[in-house]
Amino acid sequence: MRTLICIACPMGCKLTIEEKDGQYTIEGHKCKRGLEYGMQEMTDPRRYISSTVRVIGGFLQVIPVKTDRPIPKDKIFDVMKEINKIKVSAPAQIGQVLIENVAGTGSNIVTTRSLLKAENTK
Ligand code: SF4
Repeated sequence: MRTLICIACPMGCKLTIEEKDGQYTIEGHKCKRGLEYGMQEMTDPRRYISSTVRVIGGFLQVIPVKTDRPIPKDKIFDVMKEINKIKVSAPAQIGQVLIENVAGTGSNIVTTRSLLKAENTK
């Protein structure tokens, strides 16, 4: 048996999950989203990743980035390695794609803010 807290809404229902012969029985959910969350966690757990990328010529040294869709948990290390390899030149726009299909996950790494060149802020 495994217990999980559903994070699909602020209610935070406690899910109890039993596995038998590859089939999962989930209890404790108050709605269908909890059932889907529990099943996803057991069969293909995924997470959004947030990080930063170094900036060349910007008024800040780094720019925040994230995956534009959740990636498989077992790919987190590979994705972070790809993020840590790159730099972006200022100016940068919010939503700019810095890495397409990062580590083969089908997710892109995108900026979550805009960033001006250093000389534009004086
Ligand atoms: S099961 Fe439904 S009500 Fe409960 S936390 Fe998940 S989404 Fe919210």
